[in-house]
Amino acid sequence: MPNCDWGRPCNCLDCRTNRFSIHCEACGFDTMVSYVMSEVGGHTDKKGMFSYEFKEQTEKYSEINCFKCGEYKNNVPYFEKIEVDINNSRLNQRTCVACGVKELETFRKIKYKVWKNETFCTGCVEKQFMSEVPNPSTNEKVFKVDTSNMKYILEKVKIPCNTCGRQRWLNVENQWKKQCTSCYKKALKR
Ligand SMILES: [Zn+2]
Ligand SMILES: [Zn+2]
Ligand SMILES: [Zn+2]
Ligand SMILES: [Zn+2]
Repeated sequence: MPNCDWGRPCNCLDCRTNRFSIHCEACGFDTMVSYVMSEVGGHTDKKGMFSYEFKEQTEKYSEINCFKCGEYKNNVPYFEKIEVDINNSRLNQRTCVACGVKELETFRKIKYKVWKNETFCTGCVEKQFMSEVPNPSTNEKVFKVDTSNMKYILEKVKIPCNTCGRQRWLNVENQWKKQCTSCYKKALKR
C-alpha cells in the first residue's frame, strides 16, 4: 500500500491521479473525472524534503457527456476516466433547498429533514417552519420547534413562587418546583 498517509513522498497511483470536476451549464452538475499523471522526476526543497513531480496534461482536450443530464460538451480539460462512484454519490447526496448545504461538501455531519417533500438542513427547516406556523409563545409560555416531529413543544413556563410570589421561568420538567431558589434555601435553614 502507498505510504502517502505518512506524509512522505509518494508516487503511487492515487497520488499521481489528478481528479477534477467539469461543470455542466445545463443542469449545474459537476462531473468528476480523472487521469493518471506521469512522473517527471522530483526535487528536494531547502529543508531537504524530497517530493515527486508529476506532469499535468494541458495540451490535450477531451469531450464529455454530463453524468447527470447527458449534455454534450467538447474542449474540456483532458481526462481518461469518469469517476462513476463519486459522481453517483454526488448525484444522490442530499442538499438543503434553503441554504444549499450539501451532504458531501462539509466535514461536519449535517442532519437533514424532509418536510412537505423538500429536503432541508435542520437549521433551515426550523426557520421555514416558524415562517409558516406562528410561534404560540405567550408572556407565560415559551415554545420551541421540535424538528423531529415538526411541531411546537413547550419549553419554559412562567410560574410565581408560592412563598414570595416572584415570577420565574421554569423549564417544563421543573414545573413542580413550588418555591423559587432563595425561598427554598431559606426554608431549609429554618
Ligand atoms: Zn501515494
Ligand atoms: Zn448536466
Ligand atoms: Zn439549510
Ligand atoms: Zn420565592
